[in-house]
Amino acid sequence: MSLRTDWLWRERRDWAGSDGACSLHVSDDCATLELIHLSIHPSIFSLMHLLACLPGLLENGCDGRAAGMQVQEAWRERYVMLDEVLEHNRRFVAEHQLAPLSHLPRRRTAVVTCMDCRLVGLLEQALGLERGDVVELRTAGATVALPGREGEGVNSDVIRSLAGAIYLLGVREVLVIGHTNCGLAHVDPAALTGSMQALGVEPQGLIERYGLGDQAGLVRWLGAFSQLEENVREVVRFIRNSPFLPKLPVHGLVIDVVSGRLELVDRDTRPGLAG
Ligand SMILES: [Zn+2]
Repeated sequence: MSLRTDWLWRERRDWAGSDGACSLHVSDDCATLELIHLSIHPSIFSLMHLLACLPGLLENGCDGRAAGMQVQEAWRERYVMLDEVLEHNRRFVAEHQLAPLSHLPRRRTAVVTCMDCRLVGLLEQALGLERGDVVELRTAGATVALPGREGEGVNSDVIRSLAGAIYLLGVREVLVIGHTNCGLAHVDPAALTGSMQALGVEPQGLIERYGLGDQAGLVRWLGAFSQLEENVREVVRFIRNSPFLPKLPVHGLVIDVVSGRLELVDRDTRPGLAG
């Protein structure tokens, strides 16, 4: 028999709006269970959810312990990235001999952009960048969330990294590049808190302990934004105004994750720029 377990998500209001669903195949004698489909991002919490499905399987006459072990085995087979990476790396090192490069970026530029997986590789191709050309700083949404913006950037990893890039690595120009269809745009507070709870993190306790106010405050802590270009301009302004950094060109752009097309949002034309 085939058993859909999206009842789990249906029953949890916190998951309303999420597209989490999985299908399991249970053998006729209920001795084995196979993971057929998982539509949410594979991570350990999904495994925990699969295991949480077991009461439902038991109701259907399935041996829960055997089913749970099968789920874990299916999980290991399909979703363990580490071993794949290590295996690939062994082949890579055996087949490639890389030329040594300076740690100083040739084009003396820092790129501040998003962690979005669709930018991996695309960004460099679209900008004409080679290995050793620039330093790249990636944050969720290419943004600096509220705590890091306080104190003119004294606690900001972006400012700290740019300071290192400028003072130690010779960077003299900064490009802030947001992108279309960013996961940090229009974050649904209920989806965020539901996901946290599913992973065993209690959002309300954190909201109270750190004075975030409410769910909207939690979303602000994450760095979510509603206007893409405005977010880029705000990050550009924040970098330009940080007293930890010298006055040098800081430009704002947006890249289309589908076409790779760049749009200039804010060209730095301030007089007296270092360069
Ligand atoms: Zn993004």
